[in-house]
Amino acid sequence: MNLGLIGTPLGHSYSQRWFERMFRRERIGDATYRLYPMASVEGIREWVSAEAMDGFNVTIPYKEEIIHYLDDMDPTARAIGAVNCVKVEQGRLTGYNTDAQAFLETLKPHLMPWHDHALILGSGGAAKAVQYALDQLGIEATMVSREPQKTKRLTRVVSYAEAAELMATHRLLVNATPVGMYPHADNSPWAYPEGWTPQHLCYDLVYNPLPTLLMRQAAEMGARTLGGLRMLCRQAELSWKIFR
Ligand code: NAP
Repeated sequence: MNLGLIGTPLGHSYSQRWFERMFRRERIGDATYRLYPMASVEGIREWVSAEAMDGFNVTIPYKEEIIHYLDDMDPTARAIGAVNCVKVEQGRLTGYNTDAQAFLETLKPHLMPWHDHALILGSGGAAKAVQYALDQLGIEATMVSREPQKTKRLTRVVSYAEAAELMATHRLLVNATPVGMYPHADNSPWAYPEGWTPQHLCYDLVYNPLPTLLMRQAAEMGARTLGGLRMLCRQAELSWKIFR
């Protein structure tokens, strides 16, 4: 079985290691999982045939663009508007989203009653999956974008300056941008570290490095923090259930 990950950059990714370890543990000898850095997804269907791919994961920045090249989509992925897992069957490409379920499951045990409003940093594929999961949990989410006017959404999207004003009442903050990710570990997506309190929960989807600068700044003010590693492993497990 030929599996892999497409996206760019991929230097931060642990997915290959996760799958190879799982193949060894489960004694699966006929499967490979490789990283395929891609500057564009335009030739994705030709690549699928040439590499005889059976399935692949999709990461930054293609979780939305990949949709144009699929034959079908699972209803959840369609509702989210982003795909991170594609299964290939007889040349047909079907898109799934395992990020939302993985995020929901890893967040849920840490939620407190006062986490009823959330800020999601970013407006890309991961942010859409997070928004869908928060909706399932009954948490009201506001997306935060560098250019809120460009995002044509029905839901609320605000600027970073506006989000800083909301921080006191929005005590769950999720980073769904790549800011702070290897090799740019000195960066933080959030310029208002004085706003964190012990009631805040900071969930950074970035998992390399751990902790991120965002998590360290939140923890310094007493906030609880979660990194993206558990979510990464869970979305990979859920992807494997789809691939096999
Ligand atoms: P994406 O589709 O490219 O979206 C990222 C969003 O972040 C963009 O839409 C943009 O929103 C914002 N952004 C990008 N560059 C930025 C910058 N320099 N400063 C501030 N904001 C910036 O990427 P994605 O697929 O959603 O992934 C986002 C991150 O989540 C990546 O680091 C990825 O590895 C991580 N992730 C982790 C897991 C996990 O399992 N742990 C799962 C999914 C994703 P605006 O233009 O609106 O500001």
